[in-house]
Amino acid sequence: MKVGFIGLGAMGRPMAKRIKAAGFDLAVCDVVAEAVQEMAALGAEARADASDVAKDSDIVCMSLPNSAILKDVVLGEKGVLKTLKSGALVIDLSSVEPQVSRQLAEAVRTRGAAMIDAPVSGGVSGAESGALTIMVGGAAEDLARAEVVLKHLGKKISHVGGNGSGQAIKLVNNLLLGANMAAAAEALTLGRKLGLSPETMLEIISQSSGQSYALTAKAEKFIFKGNFAPGFAVDLQYKDLELAVSTAKSLAVPLPMGNMAQQLFEVARAEGRGREDISSVIKFYEEMAKTEVRSES
Ligand code: NAD
Repeated sequence: MKVGFIGLGAMGRPMAKRIKAAGFDLAVCDVVAEAVQEMAALGAEARADASDVAKDSDIVCMSLPNSAILKDVVLGEKGVLKTLKSGALVIDLSSVEPQVSRQLAEAVRTRGAAMIDAPVSGGVSGAESGALTIMVGGAAEDLARAEVVLKHLGKKISHVGGNGSGQAIKLVNNLLLGANMAAAAEALTLGRKLGLSPETMLEIISQSSGQSYALTAKAEKFIFKGNFAPGFAVDLQYKDLELAVSTAKSLAVPLPMGNMAQQLFEVARAEGRGREDISSVIKFYEEMAKTEVRSES
């Protein structure tokens, strides 16, 4: 079986590596030549663009930054639909608007092929170890066909509903992640100002009612070390909050926490920190409070 992989970024590259390591015949592309070369060195076929990847793939995986790029990669001049084989399966691992996902699934259907949305959670480390949570929208029989690949990427694979519903739950999850990350940064900064050590805060709060993934995944590895290399980039979290905020507006659902969290990530972007990890949202609080939440050791 031939598998294609489009988008070899922080998440896509480790996922593509796992698919290759599982023994699949793999063709890849990315606009960044270095990413493609790294995969070619592991035995993947380097292809020029998405249509070139799709032309002989039975399964086409995509892990792309946002809806606009995803649409171009699927529908554009050199897109997947130009060459997609009838009967092929498209697996979209990106996080995008549920509505866009449904539109693309419909376009894929007109080619006699099928698409599922399969956004993931678990970060780069989850992608490297094959321990992602994968939230699937689409037909049950298409998920059954996708499992041959997905089982190498995720530990928990959940069928949520029809096309777009994987994206819907991912949007809700990442609304919570963005709000929790901002709240954890705020709380740690106040704690530091009160004279608490970063390690004490983490040890006690991670066992108490204030604990969250944002705190346990981001405090020790990122904030305490002053290491803000992604990880999960501010630009992507901002995009995910925009998905939540704009979708909520269209449904007349108030989202005060989501809007506020998005503004904090907007500050990071305005300061040129869009490519830093989401934990860098703490720098806003640290600057305001004139302190830093770093390990002393
Ligand atoms: P990334 O920006 O590191 O990777 C995206 C890749 O797509 C890049 O290598 C880029 O060069 C490539 N690309 C852009 N345009 C392209 C095109 N036209 N053709 C081919 N390749 C193209 O992003 P990421 O962190 O890997 O995230 C990918 C998706 O997964 C996003 O939708 C993100 O929201 C989601 N996600 C990320 C994480 C995380 O922790 N990083 C976790 C869960 C979900």
